[in-house]
Amino acid sequence: NSIIAIVGRPNVGKSTLFNRLVQRREAIVDSVSGVTRDRHYGKSDWNGKEFSVIDTGGYAIGSDDIFEEEIRKQVALAIDEADLIVFVVDVEDGITPMDAEVAKLLRKVKKPIFIAVNKVDNAMRDADAVEFYNLGLGNYHTISSINGSGTGELLDAIAEKIPAPEEVDLEKKELPRFAVVGRPNAGKSSFINALIGEDRNIVTNIAGTTRDSIDTKYNRFGFDFNLVDTAGIRKKSRVKEDLEFYSVMRAVRSIEYSDVIILVIDATRGFEGQDQNIFWLAEKNRKGVVILINKWDLVEKETNTMRDYEAKVREQIAPFTDVPIVFISALTKQRLFKAIETAVEVFENRKNRIPTSKFNDVMLEVVKNYPPPAIKGKFVKIKYCMQLPTQTPQFAFFCNLPQYVRDPYRRFVENKLREIYNFSGVPITIYFRQK
Ligand code: GDP
Repeated sequence: NSIIAIVGRPNVGKSTLFNRLVQRREAIVDSVSGVTRDRHYGKSDWNGKEFSVIDTGGYAIGSDDIFEEEIRKQVALAIDEADLIVFVVDVEDGITPMDAEVAKLLRKVKKPIFIAVNKVDNAMRDADAVEFYNLGLGNYHTISSINGSGTGELLDAIAEKIPAPEEVDLEKKELPRFAVVGRPNAGKSSFINALIGEDRNIVTNIAGTTRDSIDTKYNRFGFDFNLVDTAGIRKKSRVKEDLEFYSVMRAVRSIEYSDVIILVIDATRGFEGQDQNIFWLAEKNRKGVVILINKWDLVEKETNTMRDYEAKVREQIAPFTDVPIVFISALTKQRLFKAIETAVEVFENRKNRIPTSKFNDVMLEVVKNYPPPAIKGKFVKIKYCMQLPTQTPQFAFFCNLPQYVRDPYRRFVENKLREIYNFSGVPITIYFRQK
């Protein structure tokens, strides 16, 4: 999966373009959990190609003079971390000195760069846009991120540069790829160090092809697995890590590359907004998830402390609550084996494939006993169901009137399915389709 970074000066329309590209609807879903999530990255697909989009603009801070420095940093990071870059400029302003400077940075880059000339709402603006040839970055796309014109063509061009999804051979024995992610100071490095210890059982370093090497193979507690490089592992560039944008970028990238996300939470701080973002991102990417509550040694315990803590975290990850939560201490090395064992289990659960005949026997019985509620006198009849031949668990229920199946019923079916089969830690998708 490719990562697209949107760069440009403030107020050129980066966020509006971002929202268009990721067809942002999650905000509504989020209101259910009562959390406002400030997101500058999203997941989308176009012409069968999947990609993550990052709006670098969300990370600029306050006043004008810091702006320039900040923008320069963001463009530099985008150049390092993204696979494709969309440079947004504003036709009303023409080429500003800042644009020229960004262009100068981008001209040195070998990655695909798309210039999006924004606010082109009419033919006259179209003529004005010609000026942007002078950026020296080749052709440009005119868009109006307000009314959406031109974004389709821009996406066509972008999708063309994104490699087709790899065919994954399910039979092939692949090592689990785990990414350890979490907020700064949650204890990611401590966890990894405690895990791989002094006797660093590194087996090989699988060199990345076009990218930096991402995976490092480990053998620990009798399990073979790859740890996917994250900001926590790579401590070289301290300065970069100070930037929230940088850590988000690393998290996005490592999530893309992993099978299971090991989300480390600082027990003394609890599950916070940023954790929710990462959790959401993992779920969106249909990755397995294990939550580690680290620094458990620091928490004063009474009867039920763990149970209550767990219940609270589950509230915060609703509606996807079928996720293992393990209480650990990287410091005292408590339950580290359990943590890895659980991650391996989630990896296996994610590969669960239920034979169609058995699935029908079981799930048709369930939906027969609890059919979808009739809407306007219409009765939905589910006739057949199956797990789809997809890389991650997805299920189709074929029925006469799929449009009458509402979300609560979908959730009911998902919960039943999770009760019967083991998909712990694994996001699943359920479709209702016309037979
Ligand atoms: P990272 O930024 O997520 O990699 O976090 P670090 O691994 O650098 O840890 C941040 C701080 O928390 C350090 O001072 C660690 O010593 C401390 N720490 C990490 N894990 C634990 C733990 O399980 N218990 C306690 N008491 N402290 C921990």
